[in-house]
Amino acid sequence: MTAGRAATEQLMPGGGPGAVSGAGMPQAKSKKAFSRKRLAASKQRSLAGKYALWVQALSLAAFSLAFLGWLNEIYLFWWDTPIWLNRYTEYVIILMFGIWRIGAERNPYTRKRLIVLVSCVTVLWWLIPWAFPFFEPYVGFLGAQPVFPAIHTPGTVTFFLVLGAVFLFGRRVICGWNCPCVGIRETVGFPFRHVTPRGKWAWRLRHTKWFFFILYVIAGAAVILPLNSWTATFLGVFGMLVVLPYFASMLLSPVIGNRGYCRYLCPYGATFGALNRVGFFRIDFDPETCNDCGVCSQVCDMGIPVLELGRRKGKIDVADCMGCGRCATECTKNSLAFIDVRSAVNPAVARSRDRLRTWAEQKTAVRGWQPWAFAAIMIFALAGGWWFSEAVGSPGELPTKIWAATLCLVH
Ligand code: SF4
Ligand code: SF4
Repeated sequence: MTAGRAATEQLMPGGGPGAVSGAGMPQAKSKKAFSRKRLAASKQRSLAGKYALWVQALSLAAFSLAFLGWLNEIYLFWWDTPIWLNRYTEYVIILMFGIWRIGAERNPYTRKRLIVLVSCVTVLWWLIPWAFPFFEPYVGFLGAQPVFPAIHTPGTVTFFLVLGAVFLFGRRVICGWNCPCVGIRETVGFPFRHVTPRGKWAWRLRHTKWFFFILYVIAGAAVILPLNSWTATFLGVFGMLVVLPYFASMLLSPVIGNRGYCRYLCPYGATFGALNRVGFFRIDFDPETCNDCGVCSQVCDMGIPVLELGRRKGKIDVADCMGCGRCATECTKNSLAFIDVRSAVNPAVARSRDRLRTWAEQKTAVRGWQPWAFAAIMIFALAGGWWFSEAVGSPGELPTKIWAATLCLVH
């Protein structure tokens, strides 16, 4: 038995190379996408595990608190500004559960990704907006709240910058690394990964997200158009259609898994997913080295039939892949490799299991100059955004000012 095979079978109880079905499509022998054996709360890994009831109850309580924070800020007004019961409540919860998750995670790549994810949510979504409550251009139409980084708000500078980054690097650049929605579902929602719906119908249902995508496109137009009663009403209804399923899907996690919202309802995920299809991102599949073990499909929380797509198309290029890396970093055969704009520059580099894990296991995966470069970009963007938000007055200025704002050239 090879070391790779041994590792695979260790990861997937009852696993091993799959049989080839009558249709010629390989199927994993084990149909279970999780281990029956109960995991300790201090142990988390790519193959979903079952957890004790107290862990699940704690997660549901945290989800409920996040929902209550939103409810208090919008409707209840119990307190004015305490951070423990408003939009920032969710980010505090992500930080607390994130520390737990990072300590418990066994996959080094996932652990590194969680460190970046939790740090970005804490700094960019919580601390900076809290400490520097300034506005991005045009966000006034959506309510008088500080909204930096406003990644999800159509018409903002950050929104367009993120679209460009997703085109180059795929959803990896945002969903798995800097999104509060994924943040809370990866950290608080981890005990519900094992109920992730899989199979034919769960996969077909993914198309529902395009309905929300169409609403999102209309919302984008409504933000750019001059505010009137129609646009205000539409944006209000759209906001509810996004927020209520956002929290409802958290509370339904014991039934639909922790990624129900990302898979079926998220208009932003659909937008970024569309860019997955037209941009540089995909996962390449090597049919020669793959042993059909099926682990890649089993560890995917988005319910993507990775092996089946790989065998059929030679790649995984679906809108649903958020680039978490679980499939590639658990493939002991190195049969899966991330492709993005860097691969166009240097095709010789294969971002498969060995390379991704080596990167993640480095003591300093980040080079010395990189934090400084990141800090400089942040200061540049913050100063530019602040400056620009003072300068823009009417919605009609948007098309001509976006580019200038990106370069921080206007005042
Ligand atoms: S791609 Fe890798 S993880 Fe997926 S079935 Fe093939 S060998 Fe297993
Ligand atoms: S296909 Fe792989 S990288 Fe994409 S979401 Fe699934 S496990 Fe993550």
